[in-house]
Amino acid sequence: MSMNLVTLLYLVASVCFIQALKGLSHPTTSIRGNLFGMIGMTIAVLTTAALIVKLSETAGLSTVGGLGYVLAALVVGGGAGALMAQRVEMTKMPELVAFMHSMIGLAAVFIAVAAVAEPYAFQIVHTKGELIPTGNRLELFLGAAIGAITFSGSVIAFGKLSGKYKFRLFQGAPVQFAGQHMLNLVLGLATVGLGLAFMVTENWTAFFAMLALAFVMGVLIIIPIGGADMPVVVSMLNSYSGWAAAGIGFSLNNAMLIIAGSLVGSSGAILSYIMCKAMNRSFFNVILGGFGGEATTAAAGGQVQRNVKSGSADDAAFVLSNAETVVIVPGYGLAVARAQHAVKELAAKLTEKGVTVKYAIHPVAGRMPGHMNVLLAEAEVPYDQVFEMEDINGEFGQADVAIILGANDVVNPAAHVKGSPIYGMPILEAYKAKTVIVNKRSMAAGYAGLDNELFYLDKTMMVFGDAKKVVEDMVKAVE
Ligand code: NDP
Repeated sequence: MSMNLVTLLYLVASVCFIQALKGLSHPTTSIRGNLFGMIGMTIAVLTTAALIVKLSETAGLSTVGGLGYVLAALVVGGGAGALMAQRVEMTKMPELVAFMHSMIGLAAVFIAVAAVAEPYAFQIVHTKGELIPTGNRLELFLGAAIGAITFSGSVIAFGKLSGKYKFRLFQGAPVQFAGQHMLNLVLGLATVGLGLAFMVTENWTAFFAMLALAFVMGVLIIIPIGGADMPVVVSMLNSYSGWAAAGIGFSLNNAMLIIAGSLVGSSGAILSYIMCKAMNRSFFNVILGGFGGEATTAAAGGQVQRNVKSGSADDAAFVLSNAETVVIVPGYGLAVARAQHAVKELAAKLTEKGVTVKYAIHPVAGRMPGHMNVLLAEAEVPYDQVFEMEDINGEFGQADVAIILGANDVVNPAAHVKGSPIYGMPILEAYKAKTVIVNKRSMAAGYAGLDNELFYLDKTMMVFGDAKKVVEDMVKAVE
């Protein structure tokens, strides 16, 4: 296979990846987007395998051996990935994504270490001498440093998202201490200094010291971030993993890795920015680690016992059946209860009775970007009933009923109150509806750990219980 053909095939794969991103931007085209992604990745993998054969032949090495290692790694890694993706529950997806980012970061570190140790094997030896060219050393430093930060940062994010480890660093609450930002700054400067020292001198010690500091920095950047900022962390680490891959792509002289890494890096950065805007967080505060983290440290309110109005599923069904317009607000609890099919049935029954039903989606409802869209798509909820926050917020004022199913932070009016930890975060303005029905299991706080005034309004009826059971009971009652 000629290098021209390799370049052409990589170009075709890159176009497929761009089409994949374009397709994934809307639920209706997401299947096509995924298909493009799969085709692009197949082309990229097969082309790389052919390239390995070609390079092995040129170097006079055994082709079977090199390719054998790659195929074995593909079978083991691909098999494990397929199994994990098949088994993972929808609510555990963010952890899986964080785990995958950590693997990309670690792969970048391993490749960089291997390239520094065996520059001949990577064909990055300077033609005039034994030194790795300065440009390659810079790429190796950047790829390895970003990879190490991505790895350790993703491990911490994984722990925080799963919420099942007792280890303090893995818990959702931010870990902050005096002088934290100064320490991060000093470590950051030291990492850059050591990286530059490696670039100038090709000194191994500087390279490994830089790597060790980068691993520590990954931990330090993520531990002060907690609660409501976690979605941004996930997409930011996604971006980091892309840049790490792109950096290594330069070292390996592999156009595919550079393009795919840049696509992941830039789309992740754009998504992080959009999410920061959706949560009224400063992008730089979040990516620099925990500036503004105090926004999430507030302890849960609700320590004081307060009365709420509560009703049964039958009461709620009665209110819903008599409404003209109903807006359903799905949240994390709906995903936990796997109640999406029951909700779709409830909406269908109400529609049969002449009620207009719409779904309102907050960009960070659930535990990952697009979580609610995926959940509703799985239940085959018609797309024309699903509205993004900015399109539906104007309609709550005219809605007879807003029914909130397992959502909390994304409808918390505290976001409008100055001094509140979530002040300024855009919310779904469900409190404007004539009647509000809230389903959750208890009065426990949401992910940001805040009490929710919406639950105490005169027009609010709480229906306690697991979302699936409650919605199924509502369906029966509506019938
Ligand atoms: P919240 O976490 O604010 O609230 C979910 C509510 O669901 C809880 O109050 C809980 O109350 C209830 N609940 C849990 N299980 C059930 C169940 N089986 N049946 C009924 N109710 C249930 O979720 P939101 O979707 O409102 O907000 C998302 C939050 O997560 C935001 O703070 C966001 O920043 C954060 N986040 C978002 C990510 C993303 O990318 N989308 C990623 C990481 C975090 P109770 O226990 O009383 O039942």
